[in-house]
Amino acid sequence: MHIRPLKLAKDVDLDFFAKQTPGFSGADIANVCNEAALVAARKNKQEVEKQDFLDAIDRIIGGLEKRTKIISAQEKKIIAFHEAGHATVSWMLQYAAPLVKVTIVPRGKSLGAAWYLPEERQITNTDQLLDEITATLGGRAAEDVVFGKISTGALNDLERTTKQAYAMVVYYGLNDKVGNLSYYDSSGQSEYSFNKPYSEKTAETIDQEVHLLVEKAYNRAKEILTAHKDKLEQLANQLLDKEVIFREDLERIFGQRPFEEHTIAENKENISTDERDESFQANITENEDVNYEESDN
Ligand code: ZN
Repeated sequence: MHIRPLKLAKDVDLDFFAKQTPGFSGADIANVCNEAALVAARKNKQEVEKQDFLDAIDRIIGGLEKRTKIISAQEKKIIAFHEAGHATVSWMLQYAAPLVKVTIVPRGKSLGAAWYLPEERQITNTDQLLDEITATLGGRAAEDVVFGKISTGALNDLERTTKQAYAMVVYYGLNDKVGNLSYYDSSGQSEYSFNKPYSEKTAETIDQEVHLLVEKAYNRAKEILTAHKDKLEQLANQLLDKEVIFREDLERIFGQRPFEEHTIAENKENISTDERDESFQANITENEDVNYEESDN
């Protein structure tokens, strides 16, 4: 319906775009079509081409591209392997969220990003949380495995990982040593802000267990990447070449993912249009890798 008023180039494949826009509402699709027409018009094109749609989808999902940012060839290589690391690890883990696309096009403060479509779930178990933490550490682990050194580009990943691991131990009662206790304060009155509700000894156990959990996940990510290093390299090279890769590219390199996936896109019939917009905004995870040392001007 939204595509009807547009004059399309021959390379426009609507099935392909449908796969790039899971969970999009009618309004989102209308936005993409309008934006694609504007992009094409700006370039004085007579027809709207595939690339115009891809640019439009990027704009809708991730804000405006910032191609003026200068990145050295070596930096770009590190970013490509970092993002390919996230993609490889999440592909190989049963409970990690399925990937939608990965890009190394700088956008705002972000140097690279991966988009995932989380599975529909009400209750998350230990295996799922551990897989997610492992996939989040996949970027830094890839730098480690391939270059033998790590960069500051993983700050965002480490912050997320630390918070998630902490929540498992301190809030969700998912750690054997700490046991079935939650120090979460749902009253929001932060009674705990002055005094920790646990002893110094427990505080030490929490620190140790959080550290152990993250290190285990990091080593697991490194093992996966070492075992599939040839494929990781293929993926990173393809990213360097094309700057963006989609699920189809991963399937070509790794083969079909051997796990069943139940994404929110498949279950969207259950949700009304307005709620679907919100759930899409809330659920699609953009995993941006930001370099905080760089000023953004
Ligand atoms: Zn990352």
